[in-house]
Amino acid sequence: MAHRVTMIPGDGIGPELMASARRVWEATGVAFDWDVQHAGADVAEKEGTPLPQAVLDSIRANGTAIKGPITTPIGAGFRSVNVALRKELDLYACLRPCRLYEGVRSRYDSVDLVIVRENTEDLYAGVEFDAGTDEAGRIIAMGEGRIEPGAAISVKPISARRTERVARFAFDYARKYGRRRVSAIAKANIMKFTDGLFYRVCGEVARDYPDIHYNEVLVDAACMQLVQNPDRFDVMVLPNLYGDILSDLCAGLVGGLGVAPGANIGARAALFEPTHGSAPRYAGMNKVNPTALILSGMLMLRHLGELEAADRLERAVAAVIRAGDNVTYDMKADRNDCTAVGTSQMADAIIAAMGT
Ligand code: NAD
Repeated sequence: MAHRVTMIPGDGIGPELMASARRVWEATGVAFDWDVQHAGADVAEKEGTPLPQAVLDSIRANGTAIKGPITTPIGAGFRSVNVALRKELDLYACLRPCRLYEGVRSRYDSVDLVIVRENTEDLYAGVEFDAGTDEAGRIIAMGEGRIEPGAAISVKPISARRTERVARFAFDYARKYGRRRVSAIAKANIMKFTDGLFYRVCGEVARDYPDIHYNEVLVDAACMQLVQNPDRFDVMVLPNLYGDILSDLCAGLVGGLGVAPGANIGARAALFEPTHGSAPRYAGMNKVNPTALILSGMLMLRHLGELEAADRLERAVAAVIRAGDNVTYDMKADRNDCTAVGTSQMADAIIAAMGT
């Protein structure tokens, strides 16, 4: 039976990437019944909101969605659609596998690690008080001299319940995909209560997974070790802010935004999307790399239980990158290399490689 999946093309480079990636996913032979929904700035003009209720209803009904990037206009009246989707659907685990494919220009021989970022709390909870407000003043008073008067304040909530569910996600993922180690990354020597709780709860969850090695690494040490020797890590579980920063660091280790897939997963829905944004200045040029979105679809195929198709798709992407002749400009040593192909031509090459 066909998998019914919500498809949100997004804006900027999103629609052209989605058109190419869709052909690749369909070429795996897996049957999809796409429920195409639109969100973003263009929709806001017509419907008064960038995230219509129909989009949320569709994802809730289908349980699985794939999405292109959506622009967050600076200073406009609405918050990020991407953040709103994660919040409304309680997509608490952000999954970012970072694998180095042969042929990608990188400083490393091999990188194969997985970032699991808590997606709903920490400094991203949105509880902030501006300098000079009564609320900030009350918190400053509670600080009993430790906070400079007139400071702006951000609140960093980290709870046992939300840490436990993301830690379980990381360990379950490790077990399912044959990974040996889960590292909790935080800064508990300084933030003893919030990051301390994160370590404590991850450690408690680890006891239920004696087959998987568990360790704790301070976030600053983790950054240095990742740059010096990324082989030391396998699955990493992090609170929201550190997870955001290390996701981009690790995308850089494996070739940059053009090749970095992602997923946001909750108890009732999963949303697959590339790490990169809508790159508006490249929109409509058939120029940017479709790999990050195509590989996000590979994660979706695994999530849907289509393991053989997912493996075949990943092998085809790897083969095209290894051969190096049908790749977009960002994968060439010289970005002005005139042998670089366009978005749809790279997708064609991946489809051809699946047939061989
Ligand atoms: P961006 O990822 O859109 O682009 C930064 C640069 O990365 C581009 O100029 C380009 O050089 C490169 N790049 C990005 N995608 C690429 C691809 N597929 N192939 C080759 N090169 C690629 O980041 P930005 O410019 O900071 O953000 C633009 C908009 O996207 C903003 O409004 C931002 O809020 C939004 N955004 C959305 C998401 C999302 O939808 N999940 C994620 C990040 C940013």
